Amino acid sequence: MNTELQHFDLVVIGAGSGGVRSARMAAAQGKKVAIIENRYLGGTCVNVGCVPKKMFVYASEYREKMEEAKGFGINGQVNDFHWPTLRDNKSNEIARLNGIYANLLTGPGATIFNGTGSLIDANTVHVNGQDGSQQDVTADTILIATGSWPFKPEVPGAEHAITSNEVFSLEDDEFPLRALVVGAGYIAVEFAGIFNGLGTETTLALRKDLVLRGFDDDIRAFVQGQMIEKGVNILPETEVDHIEKQADGSLMVFYTNNEQQEFDLVLYATGRRPMTDGLNLEKLGIDLNSDTTIKVDDFFQTSVPSVYALGDVIGTPQLTPVALAQGMKFLAHQYHDDTVPMNYDNIPTAVFCQPNIGTVGPTEDECKAQGIEFDVYESNFKPLKHTISGMNERTLMKLIVNKANNKVIAAHMVGHDAGETIQGIAVAITAGATKADFDATIGIHPTSAEEFVTMR
Ligand code: NDP
Repeated sequence: MNTELQHFDLVVIGAGSGGVRSARMAAAQGKKVAIIENRYLGGTCVNVGCVPKKMFVYASEYREKMEEAKGFGINGQVNDFHWPTLRDNKSNEIARLNGIYANLLTGPGATIFNGTGSLIDANTVHVNGQDGSQQDVTADTILIATGSWPFKPEVPGAEHAITSNEVFSLEDDEFPLRALVVGAGYIAVEFAGIFNGLGTETTLALRKDLVLRGFDDDIRAFVQGQMIEKGVNILPETEVDHIEKQADGSLMVFYTNNEQQEFDLVLYATGRRPMTDGLNLEKLGIDLNSDTTIKVDDFFQTSVPSVYALGDVIGTPQLTPVALAQGMKFLAHQYHDDTVPMNYDNIPTAVFCQPNIGTVGPTEDECKAQGIEFDVYESNFKPLKHTISGMNERTLMKLIVNKANNKVIAAHMVGHDAGETIQGIAVAITAGATKADFDATIGIHPTSAEEFVTMR
């Protein structure tokens, strides 16, 4: 045991999106900061989430683009997909990003501990170092930013299935010819699109009738139809009973409706749970919410005043930009007397399925539940590109307008680059733009985005 006790203004446990942002900005503001991480710098987003996922999404689009090209007179050859090249190019870029994250932290003077942090008391964290070292550090403030971890339901044989943690580093011979994705959320629809685009025979099993619960119903039905059109075999109202590994390594999946199907890979994408194991939250008396996320107030303070928490571990939307904004809000409150709580309204988000979804603001159902009287403007069309590409891909765009004040309160889109389009619309909605403002905006022609200012 190293008995030397280092004291910090702030000790952050977890170097994911929220933790790194908080640590490096605090250090840049002159605070003495330490950050403890036992896996990889950058957390899920950089290592096994947003960033490598988007690379895989790009990869998955080429085969279809080659098909589309024929309509434009370009006859390219669709060569075999070489998984190790994609995986290794991705891994090299992630390694580069890990280095950048280290520099972002050490540049302004933060200390990185490679190890596992656990709370000893309200101002002390024990670091179990990856090099075998053991030490305690003390801090005025401790910030827990340990994120979340994929969850697999307790189904016999689920140990044969993987999660999004493993899918990014499959061995050379493990890339599947036949894949089953279980779930209906962001990760399930994104990976169904990735596998399908890369040439895998892809099945998506969801326990309800439609993907993406919580999204606008029109968007859900539309995107499900588009996924089927692109070749994903969607099994609604289907649950896995058990999975058996066969002698040749393939997986036989038995559904509760007594049907069975054989796959090379099963990916569970059934949600993520907070990562609180080993933190000693109970010992310190830190209150949890009923879903085991950490309970915090408007400024991320837990029931122990010197301990704060933010990001996926507190149960707010599991999105990198939310964790980043929370980190900034935490610092503004902690060190600059900011007393305005974080605003969770109008968080724009994208799902990188094919075609993409981009959305900001409430769904029609949420408007109804809030008693809002609203008008809907909708446009459902074949994008110009696909008039000669030979593809049947369509785009759906809708605006929800509050009748009381004519403000545009939501924009939902399924279509190429929907995320890129919705980011700008989110600025307009955040600024309180009315439908008249949208109407007065000159369109950019010919684009899909111009539909948002030409709907009448
Ligand atoms: P989500 O919370 O989005 O969805 C989980 C899905 O799993 C639900 O649709 C639910 O479907 C289904 N499910 C839960 N339990 C079971 C079960 N026992 N059997 C079958 N289905 C089940 O989780 P994800 O894992 O997809 O993603 C986690 C989070 O990561 C997301 O919420 C999102 O915040 C974030 N993320 C964001 C991305 C982005 O911004 N593009 C990309 C990827 C992830 P049901 O409707 O049946 O309840």
